[in-house]
Amino acid sequence: CYLLGIETSCDETSVAIIRDGKEILSNIISSQVDIHKRFGGVVPEVASRKHVEDITMITQQALEEAKLGLDDLSGVAVTAGPGLVGALLIGVSAAKTIAYAKGLPLFPVHHIAGHIYANRFVKEMEFPLLCLVVSGGHTELVYMKEHGSFEILGQTRDDAAGEAYDKVARSLSLPYPGGPHIDRLAHEGEATISLPRAWLEAGSYDFSFSGLKSAVLNVLHNAKQRGETIKPEDLAASFQEAVIEVLVEKAFRAVDQYGVKQLLLAGGVAANRGLRERLTARSKKEGVDLVIPPLSLCTDNAAMIAAAGYIQYQKGVFADLDLNANPGLPLS
Ligand code: ATP
Ligand code: MG
Ligand code: FE
Repeated sequence: CYLLGIETSCDETSVAIIRDGKEILSNIISSQVDIHKRFGGVVPEVASRKHVEDITMITQQALEEAKLGLDDLSGVAVTAGPGLVGALLIGVSAAKTIAYAKGLPLFPVHHIAGHIYANRFVKEMEFPLLCLVVSGGHTELVYMKEHGSFEILGQTRDDAAGEAYDKVARSLSLPYPGGPHIDRLAHEGEATISLPRAWLEAGSYDFSFSGLKSAVLNVLHNAKQRGETIKPEDLAASFQEAVIEVLVEKAFRAVDQYGVKQLLLAGGVAANRGLRERLTARSKKEGVDLVIPPLSLCTDNAAMIAAAGYIQYQKGVFADLDLNANPGLPLS
């Protein structure tokens, strides 16, 4: 079975071909990050236009690299939401066109389900499992009792982890997206600055990062007023420590409470070195089976979308050609 995957929910145009749900034959990613950089974030109209320009060429590249033609495909998986509506529409239209032209089944995929299924390229999933999703727009603890079933145990009440990273980076005048820059700086500094941790009510699996972000801004502001200098690497290390501590603690509390067989990590912030190290160390200590995607599959890509679509292929559930993009698509 050869599945074509398409991802255009934000600022990456990506097309992939995977074999039998877990072998990547090609995974072409065209990032628009250099275009959006000068605006300090993604500009939706610019993103849509660039997707339109790129999608045909990227699709051809994906087929060429996999040494396949459209006639070899068994189906088309596409991100149907959530994301920027104009951006999503380009991928959905491309997927529908191919499905219609070649009489192929169409599999609409939730973007976060895609991030979670990036782990399938690493190891077979064992249920029940728990996934810590940390991306640019989401921070969630997701419980899965079987393939395709997602129960959100907790989520952010304000900023997503990646969003907080990007905002803190911006306040330190680092380029967009700031996550990787903060990560690098954090490893050069010491977590000496005291910052708040939002544990929320006892037993809650929700998260909150806006207070932490404001605290970082206050530290910078106060230092400036007093004419003091703050070492950016120490601030980055302190911020990263505050984020990781809460994420890891809540994830392991849920692992305990729900007695899961595996803990998965997913989303762009899964590329964070500090978070990967801390989760790995704690899993070793507690004997938890931790699965982490390779760095190349943490941020947006179409292979993960195809992997999630493969579950629908196996179940024989597919969408009609009137499929529409849904920017607010719910996970569960
Ligand atoms: P969503 O998946 O929620 O729709 P998105 O697709 O925009 O959002 P992703 O591509 O999954 O987000 O991840 C991008 C985010 O990951 C950015 O916020 C970026 O700063 C962050 N990120 C990437 N690498 C790192 C890193 N090493 N450390 C921390 N954050 C990182
Ligand atoms: Mg992106
Ligand atoms: Fe994403």
